[in-house]
Amino acid sequence: MSIKTHILGYPRIGAKRELKFAEERYWNGEITQAEFLAKAQAVEAANWQAQVDAGLSLMTVGDFVFYDSILTHAVRLGVIPTRFVEATRLNHMDQQFYLARGRAPECTDVAALEMTKWFDTNYHYLVPELNSTQIFKADFSDLFAQIERAKTFKQPLKVVVPGLVSFLYLSRIVDTDNTKAEQHACECGTDHIKIAADQATLKFIDALIPIYTALFDELKIRGVEYVQIDEPVLVLDLAPEWQAAFEHVYHLLQRNDGLKLIIASYFETLGTNLNLAVQLPVAGLHIDITHEKQGEFFWKKVIDQLPADKILSLGLISGRSVWASDLVYLNLIVQTAKKSLGDRLWLSSGCSLLHVPVDLRSETIPAEVNGKLAFARQKLNELVALASGNIYPNEKLSKTADKTFDLVGQERAEPFEDRFKAQQQKLNLPLIPTTTIGSFPQTAEIRAARSAWNNGDLTNDAYEIAMKKEIAYAIQQQEQLGLDVLVHGEAERTDMVEYFAGLLDGFWLSRFGWVQSYGSRCVRPPIIVSDITRSKAMTVKWIQYANTLSNKIVKGMLTGPVTILNWSFPPAHRSRREVCLQLAEAIRLEVSDLQNAGVEIIQIDEAAFREGLPLRKADQAEYWDWAVKSFKHCSSSAQIDTQIHTHMCYSDFKDCLPQITAMDADVITIETSRSGLQLLEVFHEQGYPNAIGPGVYDIHSPRTPTVDNMRTVIDGALKTIPAERLWVNPDCGLKTRNWTETKTALAALVKMAKQVRAELEAA
Ligand code: GLN
Ligand code: ZN
Repeated sequence: MSIKTHILGYPRIGAKRELKFAEERYWNGEITQAEFLAKAQAVEAANWQAQVDAGLSLMTVGDFVFYDSILTHAVRLGVIPTRFVEATRLNHMDQQFYLARGRAPECTDVAALEMTKWFDTNYHYLVPELNSTQIFKADFSDLFAQIERAKTFKQPLKVVVPGLVSFLYLSRIVDTDNTKAEQHACECGTDHIKIAADQATLKFIDALIPIYTALFDELKIRGVEYVQIDEPVLVLDLAPEWQAAFEHVYHLLQRNDGLKLIIASYFETLGTNLNLAVQLPVAGLHIDITHEKQGEFFWKKVIDQLPADKILSLGLISGRSVWASDLVYLNLIVQTAKKSLGDRLWLSSGCSLLHVPVDLRSETIPAEVNGKLAFARQKLNELVALASGNIYPNEKLSKTADKTFDLVGQERAEPFEDRFKAQQQKLNLPLIPTTTIGSFPQTAEIRAARSAWNNGDLTNDAYEIAMKKEIAYAIQQQEQLGLDVLVHGEAERTDMVEYFAGLLDGFWLSRFGWVQSYGSRCVRPPIIVSDITRSKAMTVKWIQYANTLSNKIVKGMLTGPVTILNWSFPPAHRSRREVCLQLAEAIRLEVSDLQNAGVEIIQIDEAAFREGLPLRKADQAEYWDWAVKSFKHCSSSAQIDTQIHTHMCYSDFKDCLPQITAMDADVITIETSRSGLQLLEVFHEQGYPNAIGPGVYDIHSPRTPTVDNMRTVIDGALKTIPAERLWVNPDCGLKTRNWTETKTALAALVKMAKQVRAELEAA
C-alpha cells in the first residue's frame, strides 16, 4: 500500500527570480519572445525536476504560468474585455501581459485588469471581467503543449485547472444592470447589488460546462489520469446560491471514463461547506489541514464523512509558513488516516507552495534557526519522508523555548477631544494643514549609496552622511513648496517593514527568500525567528536631524505592528496576537524616544492593517480585537499633546470603519482618490470622530493632478468633515515618483490648500 505524494503548485519565479528578470527584459524589448520562452521553460523544467528529484509520486503540470493562474485561465477561455480590441493580434502569452499591464508591443495602452488580494495571502490575482453578453472561446493549446513537455519526464502527471465555480466567483461582472438593485436600497440588511451581480455571474455556468467537459475529454485523450480542480472558494462563508452552484456544476462535470477529478480546497478548513464538499460527485477531495484550530480535528471529520470510494488528499505541509514541519506529529495523523483510507490517502502541501520562498540551500542560515526552516524545495522532502514513514524526530523543533507572552494592552488616558484641543494649542497649525505621507523619491543615488554600503564599499559614516544629504534636500524642497508639516523623506529605508525588521531583534532577513506578490513583482518578507525586542532606537537619529533643519514641525515616521506582522513570516510557535503585541511594545518604546527627542507629531503607518483579516466572519472579531489593541498600545506612550497620525492605503472601509475608529489615532490619512468621495460618505455616515486627511491625488499615476481635481476632494470632504479636523495630503508615499513630478504635484496641492483656506477664513 503506497501513499501518493503531490503538491498543489510550486513557486514559478525561479530560485534566483529568473522568471521575473526574463519578463522585465522581454517587456523592455531587450530579449525576443523566443529567448523569453526559453528562460521561462527552463524554470518550468527545473520545477518539475525538483519534484522528480524529491521523489513525489505525481508531477504537477499547469501551475506554471507567466503572470497569474486566473489571468491565464481567463485568456484561455477568451475572456478579454472589449477595450483590449487589439489583443486579437497577440498570442496567448502577450494577451496575458496586455491584460495585466495594459501595455503590449504595438498596441494602444489601455487600463489594465484590476488586481486584488488572493484570499488572505499577500499574493494578488487579476480579476477577470465578464460582460453580460460574454462569449467564451476556449483555447487550451498552450496547456496541452505544456503537458507534452511534461511527458518527456516520463512521470505520472496531474494537471491543475482553476475550478469553474471559483473562477466565476472571483470574476467581476462589468455591465450588470444595477439600477433596480440600487432603487431597492432598503433597510432589510441585504446587499441587493451583490446578489444581482452573483445571479448574473451564475448565469455563465451553462456556457462553461461544455468547455470544461471538452477540456477534460482532451486531457483524457492525452493520457492524463488526474486533474486537480482548484476550488478555493469552498473555504469561504458561501451563500446558498453558490453552494447550489457547486452541486449543479460537479453533477454535470461527472466522469465515467476513468479521468479522476480531485477538487482542491485550501487556505482554511471547510466550515459549513464540509458536507457539500465531501459529497461532490468527483474522484477526490483535497483539504488543507494546516489551518485547523487546535482540537478541531477537521481531518477526522472529513474522513468520517467521505464516501468510501473517494481519494482524500491531506494537505498537511504548510504552503504558507517557512518553518519545518513537525513530522513526528504529522506522522501520527498519517498513520490514523491510512488505517481508514488505505491507498485512497494522498499527502500534499496545504496550498500551492507559491507563497513560500523557493529553496533554502542558497541561504546562510543563522545558528538559532538552523534545521528549523523549510522553503518550497525542502517541503517536497518532508512530504516524501512522511509518505515513506522514514521519520526522525527533529530535536531542533522543540517548542520549549517559548514562554507565553502576554501584555495588557495600554491606551492613551485622555479622550480625543481633550487631546485634540491640547494639540491644536501646542502645534499652532493653519486650517486644513498640508503634509505628505512620509517617503520622497528613492532616487538612483540613494539606491547606489545603499548598495555600496551593503557591499562594504561605503563606511557607516559615509552612508550616514549620504542619507543626511538626502534628508536635507527633502526638507529644503518642502520648505520651498510651503508645506505645513514636513517629513524627513525615508531615504534610509528600503521598505517600510524591512527597515524595522533589520533593526529589531528577533528577525532574520534572508537573501533569496523572494515570494511572488503579483506578476514580476516579488517581495522578501522578513522572518520572525524569536521573541521581538527593541534594543536601540531605530528612527530617532534621522528625525532629530531633520528637525534641526527647519522651524516647521517634522513628523516622526514609524511602521505599525499589524503591518510589520502581516508583511513578515510569523514565527512557528507563537500566536499572531502575541507577536503583534511584542511588536507593539517595541514601537511604543520608539514613540516614547521620539517624543523625548522633541518630536511633536508621530505617524504610525498601518498600510496592511486589514490584510491579515481571517477569511471567515466567525474568526474576524478576534483579529480585530488584537489588531486594534496593538495599535493603541503603541500610541499609549504619547502624551496628551503629542499628535498620533496613522496612514492606510486602503479604500474599502465599509466593513471595518468601527475598527478604524477604535484605533483612535488623532489623525488618519487615507487613500481616497481611487475610491472617490464615496469613502468619505462612509466616514460621515458612520460618524468618524477624529481628524482625517483624505488623499487628494493618486500617487501611483505619473500624471500631474490639477488644482481643480484636488479641490474636488477637499470641497467634497468639507461637506461632511469640519474644517478644523481636515488635513490635505497625497494618498500615499512618494518614493516611486521622481522629484520633478513630486514638486509639480505638491506645488498644486499647496496652492489648492491656500485657496480653500483663504475662502474658509473669509467666510
Ligand atoms: N510612510 C510610508 C511612505 O510614505 C507609507 C507607505 C505606505 O503606506 N505603503 O512610503
Ligand atoms: Zn499608503
